[in-house]
Amino acid sequence: MADQLLDRAARLILAVARDGPDCTWCRRPFTDRVTPTTDHLVPRVKGGPSWLENEVAACRRCNRERGHLSPSDWLAECERRGWHPDADRVARVLTALSAAIATRGGQRRARPYLEGQLRRLRRRAA
Ligand SMILES: [Zn+2]
Repeated sequence: MADQLLDRAARLILAVARDGPDCTWCRRPFTDRVTPTTDHLVPRVKGGPSWLENEVAACRRCNRERGHLSPSDWLAECERRGWHPDADRVARVLTALSAAIATRGGQRRARPYLEGQLRRLRRRAA
């Protein structure tokens, strides 16, 4: 629960510590020139909360180019570009988000979107 009280910069540091120091989508390592940004897996416009469980680190380019695409659509676009996005990371974080919502309640708008994404990611993995 404590991470709900952390500011965005602190959560970004935790996301990098949790997932590793590379972009979730293009997998470029973070450097002075490729800097991490906070990417909301369930976009905020879809009701996604600013919780560590809804956030991954992405380079600025990927964050901008993804726009409001869903995680599954953007994973497919990354692969079309010949990248090797971390689909396991995305599935892991979305699963943690689902558990966090079950515990904390609320987030009614994000729930159907999240469940749809988890179904699509499970189908991808199968
Ligand atoms: Zn990237």
